[in-house]
Amino acid sequence: MSIHLYTDYPFHNKDIAQYCTFLQEISVSIVEHFHFSELLTSPEKIASFAQSLASIRILSIDKKDLNTHLFPVEIEYEKKCLLNSSKASQSLYDGFEFQLLLRTEWPALFLKKERLNIILTERKLLTFEEDNRYHLRSIILGFPCIISITGIIEAPPKPKEYSLITRTGLTKELQNWLEQNKEKYLDYNDDRVPQVIKGYLLQSYFFWLKGAVQFCNNKRCALYNSHWQEEVLSAQYYHTLCDKHQAFIR
Ligand SMILES: [Zn+2]
Repeated sequence: MSIHLYTDYPFHNKDIAQYCTFLQEISVSIVEHFHFSELLTSPEKIASFAQSLASIRILSIDKKDLNTHLFPVEIEYEKKCLLNSSKASQSLYDGFEFQLLLRTEWPALFLKKERLNIILTERKLLTFEEDNRYHLRSIILGFPCIISITGIIEAPPKPKEYSLITRTGLTKELQNWLEQNKEKYLDYNDDRVPQVIKGYLLQSYFFWLKGAVQFCNNKRCALYNSHWQEEVLSAQYYHTLCDKHQAFIR
């Protein structure tokens, strides 16, 4: 078996080697890393993919309708982001549509079930949930598995005490809380993010291994379905498994 790891934008390139080593150790497989731009092999491919990306943009967080009337400027924006490897798109995309788009554009790669394909992206991916709203996601398991760094940092809410202060509108208090409680939440350029990503790499690996989403009730297992920042920091951050799940990869 083999694992292909794709990254877009700079995606803190310094950390790619440790992700590959980690995957190699847990799976005893050949792990190869590609930059997403390697898939965009011609100007036509870039143009068509940019158009598809613009069409899966979310226009309103509480409506499931996507962007059906495309303006040339929107397609141009997506194209610019694809061509400029340091410019992360600020668009919001429907996560399942994004996954489907990858399978449709590159079926020979992403429909291959004997290989684990993981996309590490800086894009903001959201899914429409039962409360009739789109929610930002850290990970979307499937073919391929997609891990979003923006999702990891922004999707799980900070502790309740933070949202209570937010409601008071006291900017100074909010700032103080953020400065005094850095250990309770993740931020951009945070040294802990690569460790958390390894926890999500484990979730991707288990999805592939078992052919279905595997969640665990143990709050210290990387397969725990974390919703809060503090849960991410006690489950995914340590990227270790409970005894039951560890037995699968021994
Ligand atoms: Zn477990």
